[in-house]
Amino acid sequence: MHVVVVGGGIIGAACAEELTRRGASVTLLERDELASGASGRNQGLWVPPEDPALHAIASRSLARYLEIADDAPLPFRIDPHPVGTVFVAVDEEDLAEATDTLATVSAGGFAVSELDDAALVEAEPEVARDLAAAWFIDAGHRLDPAALTVTLALLAASRGAVIRHHLSARALVTDGDHVTGVVTDEGEIKADEVVVAAGPWSPRLLEPLGIRLPVLGVRGWLVRVDPREPLLRHLVRTAEGNGTVASSLAGDIARSGFPTSDGYGSIVHPHPDGTALIGSSRAAWLTPEPEDPSVPRQLLTNAIRIVPRLADAVMLSSWWGLRPMTPDERPVIGRVRDGLVVATGHGSEGVINGAGTAELVASVVLGERPPFDASLFDPFRFA
Ligand SMILES: Cc1cc2nc3c(=O)[nH]c(=O)nc-3n(C[C@H](O)[C@H](O)[C@H](O)COP(=O)(O)OP(=O)(O)OC[C@H]3O[C@@H](n4cnc5c(N)ncnc54)[C@H](O)[C@@H]3O)c2cc1C
Repeated sequence: MHVVVVGGGIIGAACAEELTRRGASVTLLERDELASGASGRNQGLWVPPEDPALHAIASRSLARYLEIADDAPLPFRIDPHPVGTVFVAVDEEDLAEATDTLATVSAGGFAVSELDDAALVEAEPEVARDLAAAWFIDAGHRLDPAALTVTLALLAASRGAVIRHHLSARALVTDGDHVTGVVTDEGEIKADEVVVAAGPWSPRLLEPLGIRLPVLGVRGWLVRVDPREPLLRHLVRTAEGNGTVASSLAGDIARSGFPTSDGYGSIVHPHPDGTALIGSSRAAWLTPEPEDPSVPRQLLTNAIRIVPRLADAVMLSSWWGLRPMTPDERPVIGRVRDGLVVATGHGSEGVINGAGTAELVASVVLGERPPFDASLFDPFRFA
C-alpha cells in the first residue's frame, strides 16, 4: 500500500506517522517547509474542545502526543500534566457564553470550579479583580506546534516515509473515477491512495474532480510580548466570543469593503521561555495582505483588560495564520473517491484533534474499523 499525503502541516504529518506505524509506505508532499502554514503559526494549545462531538478525537490526540513526547526526535515541549486554565467572564454580557463553554468542558469530564475573589488572587494574582466571574478548569497543555509537526514527520521518516519539501501536488491523477496519484513539477507520483491534508488549500485540489468542500481560509492573528518577569502560572482566557465566518458576497464588499475581525475573545498563553502569546481573531481570508491590520492592537487591548500588567510588557512580534474552517467547525475526514481521502477543516483545533484524525484516516485507508463515530466528520454532510 503506497499512500501519497499532500500537505506537511500537523494533519498531513500525523497521517504520515500513523500510516507508517500501521505498515503503509508513505510519500509526504509539502510545497514549502513542514509546518509553514497555520500548524507552525498557532497558539500551541491543547485545550478541551468546545464541541462535545470532538471530545473523543481530541483525547486520543492528546494521549498520542504524550506517548511520543519522551522519545521525540525533536523536543516539542508538551506539558506532561495540565497547566490549568483560569477562565474569566469580563462582564455580564460574557456570562452567558462563558456558562455555555464551561458546561461543555465539564461534560467532557474536566473539573471546573468557580473562583471567588480570594481563590482568584491565590490562583492568579495578576488577573484583574473587576471581572464578572472566574473559574478554574483543570485542563490545558502547552506545546510547540511546529516542533510537534516536524516530530511526527520525522517519526514517519524513521519508518521509511519519503518527505518531499518544496514540491507541490499540482493536480490529482485519475483513471475513470479512481484516483491513482498526483502530478508534481517532477512528474507523476503513483499512489494506491492519496490523502489530501492541504489545509485551506485543499478545495483547490479537489474541485477539478467535481468535489466541493465548504472549507474556507480564516485568518487568525497572534501577538507575542515579553512581560520581563513571570506574570501568570496558568492559561488565562475568556470565551471565544466569535461566530462562524461565512463566505463574503461581492456586493457587500463593493458597498462596505472587506469584512473586519470583531467580537473575538482572548487567550493569554504564558510561554515557558517567559514570553506571553496572545490570541486570537477570525476574519475571512480574502487577500494575501491582512484585511484588518488593526487586529493586534485589539488583541492587546482585550488581554490588558484581563491581565492589566501586560500593559508594561515589551511588544515582540505579531503574525497570522490561516485556519481551514467548515461551517459547523468540525473537520471533514473520510473517503471522497476511490483512492482519495480528505482530512481538513480543523478550524481552530487542528493540533487538538491532529493525531485522532490520523487514526481515523488510517482506518479508512486500510479498510479497518474506525476508532470512533466517523459519521460526525463525513465530508459529504453539507451536500
Ligand atoms: C492564530 C491561530 C491560533 C491557533 N491556535 C490553535 C491552538 O492553540 N490549538 C489548535 O489545536 N489549533 C490552533 N489553531 C488551528 C490550527 O493551527 C489549524 O487547525 C491547523 O494548523 C491546521 O493544520 P493543517 O495541517 O490542516 O493545515 P496547514 O497547517 O495549513 O498545513 C497544510 C499544508 O499543506 C501545504 N500545501 C497546501 N497545498 C499544497 C499542495 N498542493 N502540495 C503540497 N503541499 C501543499 C501547505 O504549504 C501547508 O504546509 C490556530 C490557528 C490560528 C490561525
